[in-house]
Amino acid sequence: MQVFCIAPAGFAANSYLITQDGRSAVAVDPAQPRILGEAKRCGLNMTHVLLTHGHFDHTGGCAALQQAGARVGCLVQERALALGQDSLAFGMGGRRAGEFPDFTIDFTFRDGEALSLCGIDFLVLATPGHTAGSACFLAEDCLFTGDTLFAGGVGRTDLPTGSAAALMRSLARLAALAGDLRVLPGHGEESTLLQERRYNPFFR
Ligand SMILES: [Zn+2]
Repeated sequence: MQVFCIAPAGFAANSYLITQDGRSAVAVDPAQPRILGEAKRCGLNMTHVLLTHGHFDHTGGCAALQQAGARVGCLVQERALALGQDSLAFGMGGRRAGEFPDFTIDFTFRDGEALSLCGIDFLVLATPGHTAGSACFLAEDCLFTGDTLFAGGVGRTDLPTGSAAALMRSLARLAALAGDLRVLPGHGEESTLLQERRYNPFFR
């Protein structure tokens, strides 16, 4: 399994392209439309998009990928927020009507579900806290954490549907995952679960 990180421009989040066969690929959090061009440059056909959550800085490339044939999915609890249908979410962090091209949610998933996409097995971990429908994805030794867990920090919980108490429970769940894993967050540098268990102040 190969993972490409598309570095963000401006406020946008990290985007990840994941492939097993070097031809078809899954995107986690396509933050910007330019991810389509990056994928083409890597010779990758994007078939699926997995959203860690619905904030606009993680979903700005969804419409472009969808128009190119990719199917977009998120946790069932995050659907309304991702589509900008949650009126509460029009505040900070939510998508405003017309701000980014519209996309649809083609499939939803639940906690503990196993998704087999492009020959890669993704385990869905519901990790509410940053938003109520936030999720992490585990594929081989890679943990895609969105805005739940960063290197040395965590996502904010003061936006609509956020909950600090829920985030603490979600972190405890991640800390309890077996062994060491690569932590691939929505913002900032890559880390490892071992490193975060030891040094992340929110893990204590
Ligand atoms: Zn966010």
